[in-house]
Amino acid sequence: MIIPFLDLAKQHQTLRSEILQEWEKILLTAGFIGGEYVEGFEHDFAAACGVKYCVSVGSGTDALRFILLALGVGPGDEVIVPVNTFIATSEAVSQAGATVRFVDIDPFTYNIDPGKIETAITEKTKGIIAVHLYGQPADMDTVQEIAEKYQIWVVEDSCQAHLAEYKDKKVGGFGVAAAFSFYPGKNLGACGEAGAVTTNNCQLAQKITALRNHGQSRKYVHDMEGYNGRCDALQAAALQIKLKYLSRWNALRRKHARMYDNLLDSDDLVTPYIREDVVSVYHLYVVLVSKRKRIADYLAEHGITTGLHYPVPLHLQKAYSCYSYKNGDFPVSEECAGRLLSLPMYPELSEDDIEFVCNKLKEAVKLYA
Ligand SMILES: *Cc1c(COP(=O)(O)O)cnc(C)c1O
Repeated sequence: MIIPFLDLAKQHQTLRSEILQEWEKILLTAGFIGGEYVEGFEHDFAAACGVKYCVSVGSGTDALRFILLALGVGPGDEVIVPVNTFIATSEAVSQAGATVRFVDIDPFTYNIDPGKIETAITEKTKGIIAVHLYGQPADMDTVQEIAEKYQIWVVEDSCQAHLAEYKDKKVGGFGVAAAFSFYPGKNLGACGEAGAVTTNNCQLAQKITALRNHGQSRKYVHDMEGYNGRCDALQAAALQIKLKYLSRWNALRRKHARMYDNLLDSDDLVTPYIREDVVSVYHLYVVLVSKRKRIADYLAEHGITTGLHYPVPLHLQKAYSCYSYKNGDFPVSEECAGRLLSLPMYPELSEDDIEFVCNKLKEAVKLYA
């Protein structure tokens, strides 16, 4: 049996004719940039997230960067980022000219540990980026309370959490703005690169709309310098179609996660802990194991591909050697980085697939743990 970590081709088999039909119209009219598909998708995505504005952009990284720039973040400012995330979160801070302040994660949810935020706050701190990692919303109430106390903003990195819920409300509307990625492998993925910002703040939405398009308010009227950071019509059309299926796909991910939870009930590995007040969309299904390399190799020998999210915490990456962080600075992240293992997770998995993965994983754990 071959079980890939992700199988996007399967998703496109069923959507092929629907997507191609819209793409043919775009090809015939050559309306590749802007236009009704882009506006249509932005409208639908804002509605799905329960926010006033959605501004589509070129990627999730663009979304984060444009939010920070629109908030006026720049040299001399500090922004707090969890140390267990994809590097795009902290790249956006650096690319806005500001300094990254990493914070350790909670050992159960793997999201930012709110109890450790306050010690990282200085008079230079402008805000906190809360990442909803693996599809589970961060502890937003506690993060927001801290932000209010110090009068700083909160931005959501929702790149792994499309339609996830915190206390019955969709992510994307908690902070001043949220960044979404539509990288192909995300829960809602484009057929190329794309991303979006959601916000309820009209001024911020307008600023980001200008930033993604060379600072233009009208053609050749540049109120400021901006970027080439738009989402094109082909991506918007595909995303608008896929968005209709997203709730169903997320529900399937949750069903698969329940099956994994039940079948992997063992003392030798840790299955995901999901808070009672959230609805996770399981972008990833991550377990903690010991002897990870041997276990992953055993699974690979049996046709199962796994992933690592993320094997080296950001503070130990060469890219951040300038900050002189060292081993031991963020013990929870460091411990997890060595033990996390991401199992195959996508809507199209079958029950047989999951059973097979669980059987092989349990065999491996017995052999090596
Ligand atoms: C994917 C991802 C991003 C970046 O999105 P891109 O569209 O690849 O630029 C940012 N943050 C997190 C947590 C992500 O998973």
